[in-house]
Amino acid sequence: MKERLRGFLPILLIWLFFEGVAVTLWLTLDQIFYLFNFSYIGTALALGIFLYSRKHRFARRVVQFAVGCYMLIYLGVICRENMQLEGFWYYLFSGVFEAAVIHYAVAKLAGPFLFGRGWCGYACWSAMIFDLLPYPVPAAPRKKHLGWIRYLLFVLSLGYVILLFALNLPQKESLLFVAFIVGNILYYLAGIIAALLLKDNRAFCKYLCPITLFLKPASYFSLLRIQLRKETCTGCGKCRKVCPMDVDMTDPSRRRKNGTECILCMKCMEECPTRSLHL
Ligand code: SF4
Ligand code: SF4
Ligand code: SF4
Repeated sequence: MKERLRGFLPILLIWLFFEGVAVTLWLTLDQIFYLFNFSYIGTALALGIFLYSRKHRFARRVVQFAVGCYMLIYLGVICRENMQLEGFWYYLFSGVFEAAVIHYAVAKLAGPFLFGRGWCGYACWSAMIFDLLPYPVPAAPRKKHLGWIRYLLFVLSLGYVILLFALNLPQKESLLFVAFIVGNILYYLAGIIAALLLKDNRAFCKYLCPITLFLKPASYFSLLRIQLRKETCTGCGKCRKVCPMDVDMTDPSRRRKNGTECILCMKCMEECPTRSLHL
């Protein structure tokens, strides 16, 4: 019973975090959209993680699509809000505290201090497709020499927006929308090709995704993380074999190998025969 309650607490914290953001933004910006938006995302995430931790295997995929499609199709395509990195730079430089700036502040800058890379495990619209590919467990060790690509994409994204402002084109918003559509198509193509070539569904996340430059530093301090009960661990190594992100979760320290890569997918917890891993 005590263990069940302890497992429930992080989920409640996530839900309260999103509700806090929802109510605060609703009241301070006087826009009820934010109450709906963050309540929807927070409830979907909390419910999905809860059901998934209760062995409903479909739950993580359902949440990925529920949040991913909402953000990509409804906010991105229908409402034309660019939630990609370019959107973040654009609204930031415009001095507008809305849309992508709020999304990044919540999910990718402040949120990871609480739930690490939970965004990557449960809500990212790119990964919701990559996770359908045939290599959930990487076939080979991490290719460290490819890590520089994410920095290049980060600089290109920033450069694109700086260029938009420098040229001061009248149709900046339209060009931002084009960047959102084209950027997403290119990301999907690159992610699928990388996954098939490297036999690793999460190859894009490991080597190409520029957003990890925001996600990784805060994830190091994440309150929610996979923890080890040393006294029951037999050292069998089954957990490490199923990790899609090459994390050494058997090292209890925060400096564990690839610790900031953990997407909280709970595969290692599922696999452990002695239930030595927990959140
Ligand atoms: S690393 Fe990037 S592409 Fe992968 S899940 Fe996270 S945000 Fe999405
Ligand atoms: S398998 Fe465990 S350590 Fe690896 S990403 Fe998933 S939750 Fe994190
Ligand atoms: S699967 Fe469980 S028992 Fe085996 S090494 Fe991992 S934590 Fe320890």
